Amino acid sequence: MTHPPGTEAQLPAILSLPALYIQGPGAISRLGECVMSLGRHALFVSDRDVGKRFAAQAAASVEASGVSFHAALFDGDVTRNTVAMLLADARALQPAIDVVIAAGGGKGIDAGKAVASALGVALVTLPTAASNDGPGSRVFLFYDEQHRLESVERLPRNPDAVVVDTSILAAAPVSFLIAGIGDAIAKRWEAEQCIGANRPNLLGGRATLTALSLARASDETLRVHGVAALRAARSGRPDASFEAVIEASILMAGIGFEGCGLSVAHSMTRGLTALPPTAAAAHGVQIAYALLVQFLLEERDAPFMRAQFDFHASIGLPTRLAGLGLPNPSAADLSTIARLTCQAPHIANFSRPLSEADLVDAMRRLESMH
Ligand SMILES: [Zn+2]
Repeated sequence: MTHPPGTEAQLPAILSLPALYIQGPGAISRLGECVMSLGRHALFVSDRDVGKRFAAQAAASVEASGVSFHAALFDGDVTRNTVAMLLADARALQPAIDVVIAAGGGKGIDAGKAVASALGVALVTLPTAASNDGPGSRVFLFYDEQHRLESVERLPRNPDAVVVDTSILAAAPVSFLIAGIGDAIAKRWEAEQCIGANRPNLLGGRATLTALSLARASDETLRVHGVAALRAARSGRPDASFEAVIEASILMAGIGFEGCGLSVAHSMTRGLTALPPTAAAAHGVQIAYALLVQFLLEERDAPFMRAQFDFHASIGLPTRLAGLGLPNPSAADLSTIARLTCQAPHIANFSRPLSEADLVDAMRRLESMH
């Protein structure tokens, strides 16, 4: 990493991590010991479906540790209204809640982060699907009532503990793991763009070599173990490859993106969530497609691109917009995606300034490469 003269070169390096990470089959049984060190009165936040499946197991572990347990369940998206209702439930409880357990794929984790942030209490995350790397990060998202991304929020610190039960994740639909790999595989390449452009990370500092090493290790682990991990997921039983891919996609990628920064791939979610067909695709599936657009903007050569197409195909990730439900994108579709992408703050984290025309051209080139 070199830092050419400029204001960013003066920034200190900043790294932020979850304080404790526990991963393995049956790890939910360790929830109580995590929570016990953080508070006496726990609130379990999840959507209703996750609550039905996991609240009883979580309660058994938490209560066995002498900590009281309440559940606050919600329906639908993580909107400001949803969080206001959860907060009203939480504030009505006596004695007061001092630790939140955020459980779920994306939504329950984000809702729990929002509640913990508003109450100013400790936070334990319990992912029930490996669809993204949110569980260890301080970032969370609000959606509006039409499921459009409304805002990106930040906790004052990363979660106090992340409990990753790989038996639960291996039993979840395989499509979640595919999306999780798609979200994670972009992090190394976004990190390298952000660092190369001498731009700050998500913590407002310079990237540490530690965070960059983890972003690269995540990419390498996913490429080596991704296919085997999907086999394990299809059998419903976690094995060594599955454990490696879960750690790469939740822990390494999470520390990597927060500690290094994001770039084109994540900027494109602004555009891809605005068109109904592509908005319906999982976040990680959108990211996997957008990473290929980023590679074309990086002017990668044909053998490199072929290797990426092969990897995407081996995992079941899309290599063109048809894989996101948009088989014949119109000029208007492409310009909408490009316009909104260019409004994302992370789009500046690239080796050169990018225009809407650059984005449209790269998307068109990708469509024509098949
Ligand atoms: Zn992401």
